[in-house]
Amino acid sequence: MRPEPPLLQFAHLLLEQYLQPGDMAIDMTVGNGHDTVKLCKLVGPDGVVFGFDIQEKALTEAKKRLQEAMLKATLFLDSHANWATHLPEEEIVRIKAAIFNLGYLPGSDKTVITQEASTLNALAALTEKAPNALIIVVAYPGHPGGAEEKQAVQEFVESIPSTTHRALHYGLINHPSAPTIYALIPQKRNTEKQQSP
Ligand code: SAH
Repeated sequence: MRPEPPLLQFAHLLLEQYLQPGDMAIDMTVGNGHDTVKLCKLVGPDGVVFGFDIQEKALTEAKKRLQEAMLKATLFLDSHANWATHLPEEEIVRIKAAIFNLGYLPGSDKTVITQEASTLNALAALTEKAPNALIIVVAYPGHPGGAEEKQAVQEFVESIPSTTHRALHYGLINHPSAPTIYALIPQKRNTEKQQSP
């Protein structure tokens, strides 16, 4: 059994600490929609949530979950590698959080997995275009390709200068197949409202 719940709760705790009502957030791997629902609850009715997944099945499941909770998100059937092309340029700087829950869709085809290249592409674009966003990546080393992807994410996160973000990792060091949570926490919280004239 994958020891997911306490670890994933930590990811949600980070989001809770960081997101405020009215914020904009992205779920980069919608899957069954659990993280999308969490983001919608945190940003509230005045906030905006975008989501990406390459599987129609995932979006259908997530839409059902959102409807049941009476929440709204804008979901795209596309790779997160293309996330920036779907968002208006002027909105991108408003992004306050993004979460990647990597791997395969639970309860579905285990061969459709996130890929190192698109994951890194999306991550690099986020740190560059949305410097005020908290970025969380949950990486799973237990499936084929997962360990390599996790390693690539770790190297990327380690390469981010401490002047822009604090890079955090959290996991079970005595459980090799357990997921690791990586977080890039911006050094400066966007105080847009105070800064504007
Ligand atoms: N956060 C989800 C779990 C996500 S599972 C939950 O809590 O239920 C990982 C998801 O990533 C799968 O649904 C898979 O289809 C999706 N995925 C794989 N490659 C992707 C890509 N390049 N862009 C966006 N989503 C992708």
